[in-house]
Amino acid sequence: MQFEKLRLSGFKSFVEPAELRIERGLTGVVGPNGCGKSNLLEAIRWVMGESSPKSLRGGGMEDVIFAGTGTRPARDFAEVVLTARGSLADNDSDRELEVTRRIERGAGSAYRINGRDVRAKDVALVFADAATGAHSPALVSQGRIAAVIAAKPAERRQMLEEAAGIAGLHVRRRDAEAKLRATEANLLRLEDLLAGLS
Ligand code: ATP
Repeated sequence: MQFEKLRLSGFKSFVEPAELRIERGLTGVVGPNGCGKSNLLEAIRWVMGESSPKSLRGGGMEDVIFAGTGTRPARDFAEVVLTARGSLADNDSDRELEVTRRIERGAGSAYRINGRDVRAKDVALVFADAATGAHSPALVSQGRIAAVIAAKPAERRQMLEEAAGIAGLHVRRRDAEAKLRATEANLLRLEDLLAGLS
């Protein structure tokens, strides 16, 4: 998957709509302290489905919405749009994908893929299948290198699985196991009912 464009509006310090082109290859963000470098990386992780406010340096998810300054009022919503080339399913050819996440005060997050409302899980699967996602090792934030060095074997394995593009299979396996358990419970219930009839 190739990320092409990032659009932010009301996300953290990006109160005005901002658009950034993401070129092929390695991208580094440089700038003075406090100019919003980490906020940019967090916007990418957030639109890909990050669900932990703490890992976005907030106490609650609404903390990603521009909180206002001495001269500017706070915003009621934050929106991030990531444009990428990728596929929606295994047999799908590469095409332009536009993934949107929006949060409104008191209303929580909503996701869209190419304008269609989807669940957080659908967004997570699209990125997991493309060997990326909110916790992808391809997003190197401050302190991340030290964290990789200090990672436990199980955490390193997770990084390797993400890099190998098989992280999405775990989600599907959990779904399949849940369905299997529900079916087994139904079969037991059916046997009870049949025993009651005979
Ligand atoms: P450093 O180089 O010091 O790590 P940085 O360039 O990575 O800095 P960030 O940490 O991305 O900068 O941005 C910090 C700025 O974002 C701070 O000025 C902070 O006040 C602002 N900020 C964070 N969240 C919000 C919010 N919800 N509303 C308004 N401003 C915010």
